[in-house]
Amino acid sequence: MEGIIVPNGAVLKPRLSKVILSLSFFAMSVAKNDTPSLIREAMLNWYDRHARVLPWRARPFEKPDPYHVWLSEVMLQQTTVGAVKSYFEKFVTLWPSVHDLADAAQETVMKEWAGLGYYSRARNLHKCARVVAEKYDGVFPSDIKTLKLLPGIGDYTAAAIASIAFDRPAIVIDGNIERVISRLYIIDTPLPDSKRIIRNYAEHLFVGENQNRPSCFAQSLMDLGATICTPRSPKCMICPINQYCKAYKTADPSIYPFKKPKKKIPEKHAIAIIYIHNDKIGIETRPEKGMLGGMIGFPTTEWVEVDVPLTGEYKESLKIRHVFTHFALTLYPLFLSDETDMMIGKDEMDTAGLPTLFKKLWNMIKSEI
Ligand code: SF4
Repeated sequence: MEGIIVPNGAVLKPRLSKVILSLSFFAMSVAKNDTPSLIREAMLNWYDRHARVLPWRARPFEKPDPYHVWLSEVMLQQTTVGAVKSYFEKFVTLWPSVHDLADAAQETVMKEWAGLGYYSRARNLHKCARVVAEKYDGVFPSDIKTLKLLPGIGDYTAAAIASIAFDRPAIVIDGNIERVISRLYIIDTPLPDSKRIIRNYAEHLFVGENQNRPSCFAQSLMDLGATICTPRSPKCMICPINQYCKAYKTADPSIYPFKKPKKKIPEKHAIAIIYIHNDKIGIETRPEKGMLGGMIGFPTTEWVEVDVPLTGEYKESLKIRHVFTHFALTLYPLFLSDETDMMIGKDEMDTAGLPTLFKKLWNMIKSEI
């Protein structure tokens, strides 16, 4: 090797040339590994122009309200943005601050939550409001470790609050972000086994070097998944990060993320006893622990995986089937002209705060009574 010529015209000796060549190679690999920074930059630029307007969300460059962020994140667990909007608006109208929510009666919170599902969330929401009001004087903690000590706040919600409300770099992976990352890096391990792999990639994006506006970045990926990188027909042509996306170079990006075939869920059955007396209907408050804990509903027999014996005033056409996360339940209404401890007027049933299972049954049977 003769050496290399540098800008001032001098010729460097071979050993020195080798050092310079390896330095340039290192610089190239740094540039290659800088893709997360480029993705962040592209996403932030896109977010500043296309952020979704949501009732709980601050506009880019505005300060978010941690109470709103927490409330929305708890409501959004297992539910869609569309379903949550009206509940969020109702809650902040009834209880404008965390102190107001903490002062509310638990039964009222449960009643207003009715229909959103996963009722243990409502109980924890109320408990959490009390802890924040009493222990932290209404100010939400901003670090993940302390947030996770609060009732109902797990890994994801703590990271989302730290990031969105307090602009801290945190690994936030919701369903939308899971999909975007699976496509960006064409992860071919099916979910849920791929969660660890997705997290490794997410780490580079969310907590790697050169973090800038973590709150907006996390929300930009959520928005991308909700509006462009959608489950069925991703709009890759207008995607701000298509140049970094491996799935974009494949025939069909929508095949990612791979998912394991769903297992058949167990079918459970129970009789719902409908007490009817003087235009009043019998209900009960369900035990705190267990499904729909603390909510009101019709008294039922145990929910079991075998067929239930049906006798008496039972009508096959009025049964309803409701799917929970891990099983489905068929309820068979049995009408009894009798009283029970808790009776409410027929005309109060629609606004009583029945959870979806019992609301479905009530809607099915009310014209028969
Ligand atoms: S290019 Fe397509 S598949 Fe890739 S992130 Fe964008 S929308 Fe999703």
